[in-house]
Amino acid sequence: MTREDCLALDAADPLAGHRALFEIPAGVIYLDGNSLGALPKAVPARLAKVVAEEWGRDLIRSWNTAGWIDLPVKVGAKIAPLIGAHPDEVIACDSTSVNLFKLAAGALALRPDRHVIVTEPGNFPSDLYILQGLADLVPGLEIRVTPRAELADALDESVALLLLTEVHYKTGELHDMTALSTKAREVGALTLWDLSHSAGAMPVNLTTSGADLAVGCGYKYLNGGPGAPAFAFVARRHQEAFKSPLTGWMGHAQPFAFDDDYRPGVGMARLLCGTPQVLNMSALDAALSVFEGIDMGMVRAKSIALGDLFLTLVQDRCDGLSPACPLSGAQRGSQVALRHPNGYAIVQALIDRGVIGDFRAPDILRFGLTPLYIGYADVWDAVDHLAQIMATEAWREPRYAEVAAVT
Ligand SMILES: *Cc1c(COP(=O)(O)O)cnc(C)c1O
Repeated sequence: MTREDCLALDAADPLAGHRALFEIPAGVIYLDGNSLGALPKAVPARLAKVVAEEWGRDLIRSWNTAGWIDLPVKVGAKIAPLIGAHPDEVIACDSTSVNLFKLAAGALALRPDRHVIVTEPGNFPSDLYILQGLADLVPGLEIRVTPRAELADALDESVALLLLTEVHYKTGELHDMTALSTKAREVGALTLWDLSHSAGAMPVNLTTSGADLAVGCGYKYLNGGPGAPAFAFVARRHQEAFKSPLTGWMGHAQPFAFDDDYRPGVGMARLLCGTPQVLNMSALDAALSVFEGIDMGMVRAKSIALGDLFLTLVQDRCDGLSPACPLSGAQRGSQVALRHPNGYAIVQALIDRGVIGDFRAPDILRFGLTPLYIGYADVWDAVDHLAQIMATEAWREPRYAEVAAVT
């Protein structure tokens, strides 16, 4: 594969035009959309309008006149088709971590006779930490941390909930959501899927896979901006019985009745807790316009092709880096992960050359592949920089070893 071959692939790419919907700074190859999605061009104008007109001019009237109060439901309904859910099964609110807490605690209430939550070691920290905090609150709750290969066997009649991240945040490994959800259902356990590295990157079908609950991130592949609200999904069949443990006023059946007693809102409204983050939520709403009319199957096909290209070029041209992600595209999310003991410094050297990926301790170099704004020649150029850094050992410069607060 040559750079010219990659340019030809870009020229024939049906998704290539989508790059124009994003602000991509000149001289940057952005391979970190799995951590903070790039800025969609629709966002700045929307935010300017929300600030100047809706907030600045119309003030509190905008809760009604600009529909601020409806944003969590409206944005949830826009996310729904990306994850194979019905529009009334998804709501945008809070952070992924907070939604994990609400849904895990709510799942326990749906299975009152069971006292086990199964998850896997190496899951994203919040997913594990939230369960640890829940175990402190719920007497008798056991968090059964089970290696990936043994998960299906760990599901038995004692299990209330299986909580997994569909695409592993470090290695990009993909779980078989349908197989595990089916197994869980056979023993009467519920499933909670963290879609932080799936939503907007690949087709997800919560309905056909039989998932019960899900959460996901608004600022990664959904491009909602730093700190964007997350989303929560509760399958219709569970909504009526579902109880959120965070019974804030916005989740009340009639928030503006100001009753002393809590009564849950209808459907997903009960997942709300406090006042929606209108600025962030408006940014996410505008950002989701990039997915209008998009075929996620096409996005997935390109993502796999970009990942395969990346891994082949690394194998051919870079010494000392070993793959930490599955080599088979079908088993890999939308990222490539490589291993090197000096991974941090190598990533800093790349960033210095305009190739932005990230590092995950202890030794993983992570490169997110976002098919809506990354092309084949971008991958070629990124690996070209990586090959030069490895060949010249440019990463040994002392300044590349200085560790910042956020890696
Ligand atoms: C990014 C990510 C989160 C983020 O949680 P926040 O509450 O937004 O900080 C949670 N889970 C997974 C798997 C993630 O990748």
